[in-house]
Amino acid sequence: MSEGILLVLSAPSGCGKTTIVRQVMAELPGLAFSVSHTTRQPRPGEGNGRDYHFVNQEQFKALRDQEPSGFLEWAEVHGNLYGTSRQEVEKRLATGTDVILDIDVQGAEQVRHNAQPVTVFIAPPSLAELEQRLRGRGTESPESLRIRLANAEKEMQAAPTYTYLIINDQLEQAVLALKSIIIAERCRQRRL
Ligand code: ADP
Ligand code: 5GP
Repeated sequence: MSEGILLVLSAPSGCGKTTIVRQVMAELPGLAFSVSHTTRQPRPGEGNGRDYHFVNQEQFKALRDQEPSGFLEWAEVHGNLYGTSRQEVEKRLATGTDVILDIDVQGAEQVRHNAQPVTVFIAPPSLAELEQRLRGRGTESPESLRIRLANAEKEMQAAPTYTYLIINDQLEQAVLALKSIIIAERCRQRRL
C-alpha cells in the first residue's frame, strides 16, 4: 500500500475553500480533513473537534513547543494562532488515506520544506467578490473583516508558488476542478 497524498489548500479567507472542500469530501472517498488547532473563538455552528480543536494560547504553545513539535506547521493568521497536528496527519497518511490541509500561505511554505505536498491555491474571481462573500457569510466583526481583506491581497501574491490554481467563480466548476486534481494525482506513475 502506498502512502496517502498530502494536499495543501490555501485561499484568502471568504473565497469559498471550506464550501468546496466539504463538497469534494462528500463526493470523493478516501479523503480525510486535518482538523487544525486554533486559538480563534468558534463561530456560531462550528464544532470543537470537527471544524477545529479550539484551544487557548497556553494549550497551543505547549503543543507547539514539544520536542519534536506537536505541529507539522503553525502560523499566526489574522491575529490568531493555527497549527496542524503532526500525529493526526502522519497516522492517516500511513494508512494510505489522502489528507487535506486547509492552511494559510505561511503554513504551506513550511510543509513544502518538510514534505512533498500537492499544493492548490483557490482564488476569488475578484477582490470585490471576495468582500461580498465575506460580508454575506456574516461571521466576521468589522475589525476581523478589515484584517481579512487587507491580508487577501498579500496572500494572492503567493498564488504562483502553488502547483495548481483554481478560480472559484462557479462553485460546481471549482468542485470539479479540485476533484479532478486529486483523481489525477492518484494516477501518477511514481505513486503506484
Ligand atoms: P472560506 O472557507 O474560504 O473562508 P467559505 O467556504 O466559508 O470560505 O465561503 C464564504 C462564503 O462564500 C460562504 O457564504 C459561501 O456560501 C460563499 N461561496 C462559496 N463559493 C461561492 C461561489 N462560487 N459563488 C458564490 N458564493 C460562494
Ligand atoms: P478561519 O479563521 O477563517 O477558519 O481561517 C483563517 C485562515 O487560517 C485560513 O487561511 C486558513 O486556511 C488558515 N488556517 C486554518 N488552519 C490552519 C493551520 O493549521 N495552519 C495554518 N498555517 N493556517 C491555518
